[in-house]
Amino acid sequence: MKPLIDPFGRAITYLRVSVTDRCDLRCIYCMSERMRFLPRTELLSIEELDRLCTTFIQRGVRRLRFTGGEPLVRKGFLDLLHSVRRHLGEGLDEITVTTNGVQLAEFAAPLFAAGVRRVNVSVDSIDRETFARIARRDRLPQVLQGIEAAVATGLKVKINTVALKHDNAHEIPELVKWAHARGHDITLIETMPLGEIDEDRTDQFLSLTRVREDMQSYWRLTNLPDRTGGPARYVRVEETGGRLGFITPLTHNFCEGCSRVRLTCTGRLYLCLGHETSVDLRTPLRAGGDEDAIQAAIDAAIALRPKGHDFQIERLSKPATERHMSVTGG
Ligand code: SAM
Ligand code: SF4
Repeated sequence: MKPLIDPFGRAITYLRVSVTDRCDLRCIYCMSERMRFLPRTELLSIEELDRLCTTFIQRGVRRLRFTGGEPLVRKGFLDLLHSVRRHLGEGLDEITVTTNGVQLAEFAAPLFAAGVRRVNVSVDSIDRETFARIARRDRLPQVLQGIEAAVATGLKVKINTVALKHDNAHEIPELVKWAHARGHDITLIETMPLGEIDEDRTDQFLSLTRVREDMQSYWRLTNLPDRTGGPARYVRVEETGGRLGFITPLTHNFCEGCSRVRLTCTGRLYLCLGHETSVDLRTPLRAGGDEDAIQAAIDAAIALRPKGHDFQIERLSKPATERHMSVTGG
């Protein structure tokens, strides 16, 4: 089948799938305390998610990442993984999951059994009070147990941390040392203006380009050529021996090599995290599910793929998109 190539010659080989917009945390940069979740009828069923993943794999997607919202709160999520794993080695190289880790202690072994070998766990603080303030829920002990269980099961863990000026800026070197001491890579992320939240993102924003410059006053950072088809740039911290990634959509954009598209839990295909351009795949899927119609909708979407996003620090106080990261899948 014809591979998916966008108008700028980039091959689409990576699909991120948000399996639910619901979550058991309420991180301050991601959603409001009173976030209104979508009615269940809006969500793709497990069978529909499986069908679309299969179509994308047939069109050249080699890596699938399941995310949310919180994927581990989605009923039937393990069934989806067990179904999709039939493609491993048959076009699909890898299935990964991004989770907040709250339920990972229970899910680590089932995830491994379903073919997952790597998980990204979001940890914005290792101080219980700070964690509870950022996540609006006191769940750090569960997350740490989840990470231990994942390691014990044989899952490789990467840590994701959103850098926040007032909440965890001072803790970032500690977090990096903590992750590296346990053998985990860690990626720092700038807050992106996606969806309304209760606070002004301008107050939360911390430039990682600045953080990196500061780090260079006390650590030796060696650039690494590693690319994951996404926007992260990696360095080795010589003092810890670990790998540290920076995702800097606001201060440096790295869209030129981006190979990923995102499927929301409602079946919209977004071509870029920072653009509203999207195509509805649920309608052709539910209108009889004719394969040609679904393929045509995907082709039409890829033809619309923009060159890159246009987040700007000056416009951070207003969301660039109405969509929250939890709907699109971070
Ligand atoms: N609930 C899971 C978790 O937190 O890992 C998966 C979904 S979450 C939307 C995926 C990633 O997006 C997390 O690392 C989270 O910190 C990040 N994220 C959420 N909202 C964001 C925003 N507005 N700007 C930057 N990163 C964000
Ligand atoms: Fe939930 Fe993840 Fe958003 Fe936090 S970042 S509220 S854990 S979806």
